[in-house]
Amino acid sequence: MPRAVKAVATELLGKFDSYLQRKSLKLTAQRRRIVEQILGMDKTHFAADDLVDEFRDQKPRVSKATVYRALGVLVEAGILEQHDFGESHKVFELSEGRDHHDHCMCTRCGKIIEFHSDEMEALQERVAAGLGFHPTHHSQKIFGICKDCWKQGQR
Ligand SMILES: [Zn+2]
Ligand SMILES: [Zn+2]
Repeated sequence: MPRAVKAVATELLGKFDSYLQRKSLKLTAQRRRIVEQILGMDKTHFAADDLVDEFRDQKPRVSKATVYRALGVLVEAGILEQHDFGESHKVFELSEGRDHHDHCMCTRCGKIIEFHSDEMEALQERVAAGLGFHPTHHSQKIFGICKDCWKQGQR
C-alpha cells in the first residue's frame, strides 16, 4: 500500500473503530478488510455488488451479506456517502476528506461524472434564502447521455 493511502486507511479505520465502539460493535478483521478494499478500488463511485465482486477470489471469503451490512454501518458512521440514482442504481463513495461535489449520471452506461460549480452553489443558496429556507445539504443530479454514449449513438 502506498504511504499516502496507508495514512488515509489508518485514519479511516480509527474513525470507524471509534464509531463501532460507541455502538458496542467491534472492528473485526472482515470490517477492516472491507475498508481497505474500498480504498484500493479504482472506481470512486461503486455499487455494493462491485465491492462483493472484489472479494470473489479472496480467501477467507467475505460474504455478500457481510459486505452489505458493513456498507450500511460505514454510511451511518459518515465514512461513506450513499447516492441514489434510481431504484437499481445505488452507489457509494468515500465522504471523508472529499470536497462537496455533485453528479451527472449516464442513463445508458451508468457512468458517474463529478462536477462542482460555484455558480450553481451560489444560485441554490439564493433560491433557498428567497424561500426563507435554511439548507443543511443538497445533492444535485443531472441525468442524461455521456459524451461517449452520445458519440456511439451518432454513428
Ligand atoms: Zn454513457
Ligand atoms: Zn462523487
